[in-house]
Amino acid sequence: MKPTVDLLIEDIGRLVPGKTAPLEGASVAIDSGKIQAVGPARKLAGLFHPEQVIDASGKLLTPGFVDSHTHLVFGGERSNEFIQRCAGADYEQIAATGGGIRASVRMTREATLDQLIEEARPRLQRMVASGSTTIEIKSGYGLDLETELRLLRAIRQLGSECPAEIVPTFMGAHEIPDEWRDSRQEYIRILCEEMIPAVAEEGLAEFCDIFCERGVFDPDESLRILRAGVEHGLKPKIHADEMAASGGSLVAAEVGAVSADHLMEITAEGIEALSGANVVATLLPGTTFYLRKPGYAPARSLIEAGLEVAIATDRNPGSCTIESMLFIMGLSVMQMGMTPLEAFRAATHAGAKALAREDLCGSIEQGKRADLILWDVPDEEVLIHEFANEVPRTVWTSGQFVSDLLPGINSPVDEPDQGV
Ligand SMILES: [Zn+2]
Repeated sequence: MKPTVDLLIEDIGRLVPGKTAPLEGASVAIDSGKIQAVGPARKLAGLFHPEQVIDASGKLLTPGFVDSHTHLVFGGERSNEFIQRCAGADYEQIAATGGGIRASVRMTREATLDQLIEEARPRLQRMVASGSTTIEIKSGYGLDLETELRLLRAIRQLGSECPAEIVPTFMGAHEIPDEWRDSRQEYIRILCEEMIPAVAEEGLAEFCDIFCERGVFDPDESLRILRAGVEHGLKPKIHADEMAASGGSLVAAEVGAVSADHLMEITAEGIEALSGANVVATLLPGTTFYLRKPGYAPARSLIEAGLEVAIATDRNPGSCTIESMLFIMGLSVMQMGMTPLEAFRAATHAGAKALAREDLCGSIEQGKRADLILWDVPDEEVLIHEFANEVPRTVWTSGQFVSDLLPGINSPVDEPDQGV
């Protein structure tokens, strides 16, 4: 007798597995939230007895997106800065007059746990509906122990109610808070000796991230803080070489970071260092676009150097509000010269690698979590061409329809709020 499976997605027009070459006319069998088998449609039809069958002929099936870099939970909003930038101000000018991250810190410190959760929930719902099935979220708008813990608890609560997997990152080293501007060494001591141990003790984060940048944390400070994280079991990540070549890539290699992110100003030396240390290069073209900067990260040089290149939204309150990974893929192809298949790998398998989860998700392979997107287009080229328009036909997380889990999506405005 044939074994029963929960679902068979059959006769898929085109399947982009994320890591390996595309397949035509394949089927995917799903059981208990995992991918049971991927193979030629006729072969799978003979192997399994499915409880449910979905005909995917003429359609594109891809892995769910892995958005490996977001700052999704914060207090208040900063549309005023966007309008100022559009009128000619630049990010560093705005930051110097108390705007930027510091403005979000003031508003976040005033927000309650419930406010943080409620304001982030619709953002998260939209991301899941647009196909993101694994989403990293960083703290970093508290910059004191109490508010950083509140942000991480909000992230934990959102994760417990969300159909996507939420991966928490501690980023107390996002900026030097105003009260420690004249004694930054003391803030670094608090980060290493008080905040990191408290976060680790409560099990609130998996990664520790830092903004290594001119005027924020220098390479020596970054090394010290990331090493304190490692000592407490937090895997290192770093915001590197974004506004200037500040040595962040070298720090990433030295500390064995899982990923180095931004890299708009990375040097040849930096590329060599990342490559030698097997660090994922995570590019965030939505931020370059949003900040109206001329120079996108050198994706082609990074790919040609053999690096695993990931892309992510960097969704945050100021420098990028884009939530759609498909939009980020479109920018990657348009502005960084990636091919549609490279962009897919970057948004799925490489994103999973940037979160140390490539054995769990990010590709359509036997044994991986059944996080999938079905698109009403024949292939990835048509999809990328329509990057500003297309929305998934169906999203599955762990083999379950997101539309069943997110009944609030597309509901009338007067319907009561639903959990994510
Ligand atoms: Zn960031």
